[in-house]
Amino acid sequence: MGRDAGPAGDLRLADLTKRFGVFTAVDDLSLTVPQGSFFALLGASGCGKTTTLRMIAGLEEPTGGRVLLGDRDITRLRPYKRPVNTVFQSYALFPHLDIAENVAFGLRRRGIRAVRDEVTRMLSLVQLDGYGPRRPAQLSGGQQQRVALARALINHPQVLLLDEPLGALDLKLRRQMQIELKRIQTEVGITFLHVTHDQEEAMWMADTVAVMNAGRVEQLGAPADIYEYPATPFVANFLGQSNLVEAEATGLDGDDLLVTAHGSRFAVPVGRARSRHGRVWLGVRPEKLQLVADPGRVPDGRNAFRAVLTDICYAGVSTEFLLRTGWGQELSVFTANADPDPRLVPGAEVTAHWHPRHSFVLPRGGEHD
Ligand code: ATP
Repeated sequence: MGRDAGPAGDLRLADLTKRFGVFTAVDDLSLTVPQGSFFALLGASGCGKTTTLRMIAGLEEPTGGRVLLGDRDITRLRPYKRPVNTVFQSYALFPHLDIAENVAFGLRRRGIRAVRDEVTRMLSLVQLDGYGPRRPAQLSGGQQQRVALARALINHPQVLLLDEPLGALDLKLRRQMQIELKRIQTEVGITFLHVTHDQEEAMWMADTVAVMNAGRVEQLGAPADIYEYPATPFVANFLGQSNLVEAEATGLDGDDLLVTAHGSRFAVPVGRARSRHGRVWLGVRPEKLQLVADPGRVPDGRNAFRAVLTDICYAGVSTEFLLRTGWGQELSVFTANADPDPRLVPGAEVTAHWHPRHSFVLPRGGEHD
């Protein structure tokens, strides 16, 4: 059981606010992290992720709002009384203690003496069987991070907070640890709240992602839903990349919304339009566009426009084509490197086309534009 053996439950932040002087770091944040889920708080540096975690851990006092765990209000509880543990990017292991004692630390502090079996179990959970007698300095960065994880999990917290835990690892190790963290979360079944600025990491690991911007949540949902149905231009460009074209919504045609952009008409399924009137953004992701040199080869029912190919950036698994449209906007197209058309060279006039269901419409003229 947790160190504070109450029933676990959803973690809820209600109107949580933190001001540092006149600066608002976390702005009236409300969200629910379902019990047992892997939840990612995703956002650029400085958007308030760490401050939010610190308020949940009790390391920072909120200016307003509440932190609730199940039906308990833990807003004013001292950090060590909360059934919450944090794993930081800096592993913060005790260099003079061996690995077993590092992992046992939380139990010893609570006066528990028979720790050996539990330490062995935790080291096995993080796949460090037999590492107990070593010192932290004898372990790699990835192994040290596993120890930090074991040290937090031995306390059986109801919520584990992870603050950029993989930030110090190189790309390959990071990938390995992402797989490990997911496995461990499934195995222990407790709520993981993971803070990261890495959109791929958030999408790949989490059941639910909350995209934060300037102290607020811009959008929250399953990774695929947020990617396919971004709610704001910020999200459309923070989670992946989007081509956003200024357009006007002109009316419905059956199940499609018609929009006009720079003299051309495009169709977008109504279900993919967050606004049906007036000024809008027409959005399409670079990987959803296809390029042809010959406009006669655009299949029926596709949206299309002409542009000049300005640059080609080869990246192995894919190539990025940069286009300049007739209205002077730069757009991007990603293609898998299957059969590159030799006519697609810088300076060529090309047609970019896409299926209407691969585009989306967002309101334009809001505060985030
Ligand atoms: P990063 O990914 O860089 O850690 P973050 O999203 O976690 O960023 P926070 O660390 O929560 O962001 O900081 C949010 C904002 O609050 C930042 O602009 C930061 O400068 C400011 N801030 C954080 N702590 C304090 C403090 N103790 N005093 C004043 N401003 C602070």
